[in-house]
Amino acid sequence: MKILVINCGSSSLKYQLLDMEGEKLLAKGLCERIGIDGHLTHKPQNGKPTFNEDVAMPTHTEAIAAVLDKLTSAQYGVVDSMSEIGAVGHRVVHGGEKFAASVRIDDAVLSAISECIPLAPLHNPANITGIEACKAVMGDVPQVAVFDTAFHQSMPGKAFMYAIPYEYYTDLKVRRYGFHGTSHRYVAKRAAEMLGKPLEELKLISCHMGNGSSICAIDGGRSVDTSMGFTPIAGLPMGTRCGDIDVSILEYLAANTGKDVKELTNILNKKSGVLGVSGISSDFRDLDNAAQEGNDRAALALEMFCYAVAKTVGGYVAAMNGVDGIIFTAGIGENSADTRAGICEYLGYLGISICSERNAKRGEDTFISTDDSRVRVMVIPTNEELVIARDTRDIVLGK
Ligand code: AMP
Repeated sequence: MKILVINCGSSSLKYQLLDMEGEKLLAKGLCERIGIDGHLTHKPQNGKPTFNEDVAMPTHTEAIAAVLDKLTSAQYGVVDSMSEIGAVGHRVVHGGEKFAASVRIDDAVLSAISECIPLAPLHNPANITGIEACKAVMGDVPQVAVFDTAFHQSMPGKAFMYAIPYEYYTDLKVRRYGFHGTSHRYVAKRAAEMLGKPLEELKLISCHMGNGSSICAIDGGRSVDTSMGFTPIAGLPMGTRCGDIDVSILEYLAANTGKDVKELTNILNKKSGVLGVSGISSDFRDLDNAAQEGNDRAALALEMFCYAVAKTVGGYVAAMNGVDGIIFTAGIGENSADTRAGICEYLGYLGISICSERNAKRGEDTFISTDDSRVRVMVIPTNEELVIARDTRDIVLGK
C-alpha cells in the first residue's frame, strides 16, 4: 500500500509518499506561500529531477492538486496514477482528551478536531483545511488523523493536572496535554528494538530537542509525564520559547512595559528561549560558534538549556523510580554532540558515561554510552512521517 503523509500549516504543506512494502520513501516535498502566491519543491526519490518552481496556490486544495500532479507526472512522478495511493495520513496537532490514538477521519472525527480549535488555534484549523482539501481532490480515499497529543493521554492525573481551581480543568479543559507524541512514540519503539527488550519492560526518557523541545517519561511504552504543557511553550527553554517561567512575570511585565498579555505571550513564544538570552540566534549552530568565539550570553543560553534538560531527566527518573535508557532525537538531539555531552555530564550520578567517539557519530541509530554505563544512552533520528504512515496503514487495513 502507498500512503501519502501530509503535515499542513496555515500557509504550508509538507508531504511524503511512502510505499509500505519495505517502508520506502518514494517522494517528498513542500508547498509554501499557500494563499499568497505559491511555491512547490518536489523531490522524487527514484532518480527523476527535483521540481522547484512557483505554482499558483490560492488555497490548500490547489496545493494538494499540484502535489498529486507532480507525483503522477511523467517527468517528476513516482506513481502512474492517483488510484495507487491507498490512503492519506494527516498530522493533527491537538486531539484534546478525545483522542488517545490515531483514528480514521469521518464527519464526527472532523467535528471533534474542530472542537479542539480553541486549544490549538493556529494549528488545528490548518490541519482541517488539509483534510478537506484532500477530500476535495481525492474523493473517498481513506484519511487518518495522527495526533501530536494522543500518546500523552496515558499520563496520570498527578502529572497532567495543574494546581489551579478544578473548574478550569472541567469547564475550560486546562491541563497538561504534551506534544511531539508521535516522535516520542517512534523513538521509544526503536530504542526497545536496539536494547533487545520488550517496550513493556522498559523505563525510557526521550529527549526531543529541536526548534521546539520536549522530554517524555515513558514507562512500559506509555507516556507518564512530559515537559510541554497546555501549550508547547512549557518546559525547557527552546529556540524562541521561554519554557517554564513564574506566571507572575506576565503581570509584572505588563505593568512595567505597557504591553498587553497578548503581546507579551507573543514575545515569550517568539523572542525568548535561547534567542532571547543570547540576543544572537535560535539556532544552536550559531550559538555554538558564538560561544566558541567567547560570547558569554551564547554560552549562558547553551548552559541553561543543558541544565534544564538534565533537571527534567532527573525528575523523570524519580517519577518512574528508575531508567533503563535515555534517547536523544530531533535537530539538536541528533546533531549536537556538545549538547548531548553537556547534558550527560550532569547525569554521572545515574552511572551514565558517554563514549566521545560514539557520540561524534551522526545520522544513524546509535548507542553513545560506554559499554559499562549503567544506563544506555542512544541517538535515534526521529521519523514522525513513518509513524503516521504505519498508523494509517494499520487503521485502513483494520489491524
Ligand atoms: P528541528 O526542529 O528538529 O528541525 O531542529 C532544528 C534545530 O536543530 C535548529 O534550529 C538547530 O538549533 C538544531 N541543529 C541542527 N543541526 C545542528 C547541528 N549540527 N548542531 C547543533 N544544532 C543543530
